[in-house]
Amino acid sequence: MPSKQRRQFLKTVTAGAILGPAGLMMSRHAIADDASVTGDTFPDVARGEVVRTSGKLVESSQALQESRRLIPIAGQSQVLVCGGGPAGIAAALSAARSGAQVQLLELAGCLGGVWTAGMLTKILDSSGKTGIMQEVLTALAQQGSDVAKQTGGTVYDPELAKVVLEEMCVNAGIKIQLHTMVVGAVTDANNRLVAVVTESKSGRQVWTADRFIDCTGDGDLAAQAGCQFDLGFGADCSCQPMSMMALVTGPQPEDVKDFIRETGSAAKARFYQFMREAGIDPSYRAPTLRHLHSGIYSIMTNHEYGVSAFDAGAITKATIEGRREVHDIVRGLRSLGGAWKDLAVVATAEQIGIREGRRVKGRYTITNEDITTGLKHPEAVCRAKFPVDVHSLEIAGNPQSIEKLRARGVRQYDIPYPALVAADVDGLLMAGRCISGDFFAHASYRVTGNAVPMGEAAGKAAAESITQGVLPHQLIWNTN
Ligand SMILES: Cc1cc2nc3c(=O)[nH]c(=O)nc-3n(C[C@H](O)[C@H](O)[C@H](O)COP(=O)(O)OP(=O)(O)OC[C@H]3O[C@@H](n4cnc5c(N)ncnc54)[C@H](O)[C@@H]3O)c2cc1C
Repeated sequence: MPSKQRRQFLKTVTAGAILGPAGLMMSRHAIADDASVTGDTFPDVARGEVVRTSGKLVESSQALQESRRLIPIAGQSQVLVCGGGPAGIAAALSAARSGAQVQLLELAGCLGGVWTAGMLTKILDSSGKTGIMQEVLTALAQQGSDVAKQTGGTVYDPELAKVVLEEMCVNAGIKIQLHTMVVGAVTDANNRLVAVVTESKSGRQVWTADRFIDCTGDGDLAAQAGCQFDLGFGADCSCQPMSMMALVTGPQPEDVKDFIRETGSAAKARFYQFMREAGIDPSYRAPTLRHLHSGIYSIMTNHEYGVSAFDAGAITKATIEGRREVHDIVRGLRSLGGAWKDLAVVATAEQIGIREGRRVKGRYTITNEDITTGLKHPEAVCRAKFPVDVHSLEIAGNPQSIEKLRARGVRQYDIPYPALVAADVDGLLMAGRCISGDFFAHASYRVTGNAVPMGEAAGKAAAESITQGVLPHQLIWNTN
């Protein structure tokens, strides 16, 4: 729309009523919904214009019948990666380095997922991993503290990780849009994924691509595209608890060294015992303290049980409770004086840590049997060896059946490429914790030392399948 016409139009709308047709409150300076449906123009979002919601409240269904509207196509790429966590950055990087034009969409205000917005601070099961995993570890070690150097980058500063990951992605020529949530997906008549719908400050937008990779952790894109998935354990789909991570400061490292995780696995038990004797009862009974640099520590002391990763209200409650618990524990420790007298919270995570979401049905499903017998697969994307790590599903502890299966132990196993390829929709790959596996396999492969090689493989496969003119499920994964 020419600017003069737009101004006149805005003036008209601004002068109008602020109650919409259904009696819903509408903002001023808005463009009527009908204008975007019938015309070929869209609001100038950078100038604050918006598409007004219009529709009809259907009282019998307690719902809004939204009006149809056109949604602008915001971007077209060869490979679209949804979610910029450990799996997503690796997927975007490898697709871009394989020559594809790549768009990366991320909900948070930074890249890194649980590494950064979730304040994780430890990369597990990364030993022996090459490629992008090694590149990230090297960057975190070289640019990081002595602790990062001593641990080969596996204990890292989450703030540094943000800038390291952003620079890697920018340098690879990846188009990045933060603050953007994937809320819908469109498939064509051949059941092939062709577009993704997002919501952000720019309104509702559409992104088309030749290949899509779901790295949302929770399998949001795959579910929206119509893929089948599994969730949690047992008939009630119980998921592992969420945890609020935090950074704290105050004590001298040598005064609390017995409790620092890097001194050995018994540190957690000592820290718990110490807290209990001091009358502090953390909801996570293996509290973890890590020294990152210059008297800054990360701490994990919290479990939020029975929270669905798909219930925003429940996640909000868990976030508020988790954050309050972190502050209560820090206050309790500080009141002990001595080494703890200056203990203070530096920051709590922006995003509560979500261990489990959807496990999207792929063309191969990794099972408990696979991980306990050491699966060897001709299309392996990486080898995993992390134990089955099921944090208690309920406050009383895990059911015996879980404990028994966990006790069987894990033998090094392959993550097969077909577990990264969606079974129900074409053109879609997954990487990270939302790939195809059962509850126990997920409890092992979910850690970030595996999420990164999975992402790297998915990105490479997406680009390679375009070059070969085949769909991802028709590609034979070549380990070279
Ligand atoms: C509390 C906790 C502690 C853990 N401890 C460790 C540990 O010490 N070491 C370790 O290696 N692993 C650990 N894990 C496991 C590990 O962090 C995850 O399994 C890992 O993050 C998986 O990586 P991912 O990229 O698949 O998912 P995520 O890190 O969850 O990344 C998903 C990304 O997608 C974005 N996203 C989600 N939905 C949408 C959407 N609809 N639209 C757009 N973007 C979206 C998110 O904002 C996020 O950035 C821990 C997990 C938790 C929760």
